[in-house]
Amino acid sequence: MGAHFAEEEARDFAAGRAARRDEAVRAAVEQGLLGPDSPIVGLLDVTGIRESAAQLRAAFDAVTAPGTPVLHAFAVKATPLVPVLRLLHQEGIGAEVASPGELALARAAGLPAERTVLDSPAKTPAELREALSLGIAVNADNPQELARLDALMRSRTSRSPLGIRVNPQVGGGSIEALSTATATSKFGVALRDEGAREWVVQAYLDRPWLTRLHAHTGSQGIPLSLMVQGVTETYGLAEEINRRAGRQQVDTLDIGGGLPVNFASDATTPTYAQYARMLAEAVPGLFDGRYGLVTEFGRSLLAKHGTVVARVEYAKTSGGRAVAVTHAGVQVAARTVYAPGSWPLRIAAYDAKGRVKDGPVVVQDVAGPACFAGDLLAEGRSMPLLEQGDYAAALDTGAYYFAHHYAYNSLVRPAVYGFWPGGRFAVVRQAQTVAEVVAESGGARADGLTGSP
Ligand SMILES: *Cc1c(COP(=O)(O)O)cnc(C)c1O
Repeated sequence: MGAHFAEEEARDFAAGRAARRDEAVRAAVEQGLLGPDSPIVGLLDVTGIRESAAQLRAAFDAVTAPGTPVLHAFAVKATPLVPVLRLLHQEGIGAEVASPGELALARAAGLPAERTVLDSPAKTPAELREALSLGIAVNADNPQELARLDALMRSRTSRSPLGIRVNPQVGGGSIEALSTATATSKFGVALRDEGAREWVVQAYLDRPWLTRLHAHTGSQGIPLSLMVQGVTETYGLAEEINRRAGRQQVDTLDIGGGLPVNFASDATTPTYAQYARMLAEAVPGLFDGRYGLVTEFGRSLLAKHGTVVARVEYAKTSGGRAVAVTHAGVQVAARTVYAPGSWPLRIAAYDAKGRVKDGPVVVQDVAGPACFAGDLLAEGRSMPLLEQGDYAAALDTGAYYFAHHYAYNSLVRPAVYGFWPGGRFAVVRQAQTVAEVVAESGGARADGLTGSP
């Protein structure tokens, strides 16, 4: 009965999302946000983002003992846009940052230090010093970084909760580049390496200020069972540390993010509720109130709420194949263009007025504007024929797509708008101008290489 209700609810969410998206595309065309002179935009569904944040909170509320501190820290790299971080902050979601830029974005969004976690694998001494003076949680990636923390902790006191990132080495998923828990992953202390586990335990016993333990083993292409196994092993290590310390020294487990996203339909699968229930079954001790929790979900919070919409500049045929040449390609969808097998995107067709297009299905390529042959959003896709002046929408692109501009061909970063039902929009990010491209490309230093130094 519960499962049946959840299924129905998931269907309603999916239908609501698709209807809001279609309305937003039509309204964007009607209001001129999209058109011949602004041929590409990113759209973010504010309603959907709030829904996902609420689902994440509810999923863990349902399995944690009352009063358990839980910080859901959004992995800023997934959608590094300040208004998005502010929206999530308002929804009770913190920030996981991995560079000085991401930390600055979180601070610009008003995230307080105690809602922020720093995790990068290459933190400089200056970054560590700043994090400790702000009181931001830090997870040390390796022994050399821990030595830097030692030096800093000798000369100061800090409110920062500190931990070590471990790699449980439970194995990879279907996308090698995103598999963080392989035997030879670059992240964290590889727990199964000879002597490593004992080294970690001793590191905690020697440092009473190490109170957290971190692992991030999931990502796109990783099965939930493997993620659960990663958390199970990390929990087992925390229990061992605490047993040997004779006290609850590790008081918080940071279980990372990495819930995979369904790019094949509007349905949200898997759900946060499914993952939380699997975790609670496999690792009940993690939820009995002895441990605070930190999560770091990125893609699963934003992906399904973003759409990049691009005008079809030209429609042609080549070798018998229909090709729609649009304004969305590698600059907004680098992963899909360079690794189409791993990152297929659904493409929706809209007509010149922004209405959902139907009509006979034709096998076609949806191409981008960049000057290399592989710049395709979709190859050999069966869909209603895209014609000149129509719009092609790349769906589920709210994370790691249009917020991750790739400056190929000096194509400008498109504008991003948030939308609400009723055709209401707010600017999230202005389009980059060509003058800005020139300025960022050494425009003020035109003589830099022709004068004498
Ligand atoms: C990228 C990353 C995340 C978020 O991963 P998603 O797949 O976007 O959920 C969380 N934690 C760390 C340490 C990461 O590097």
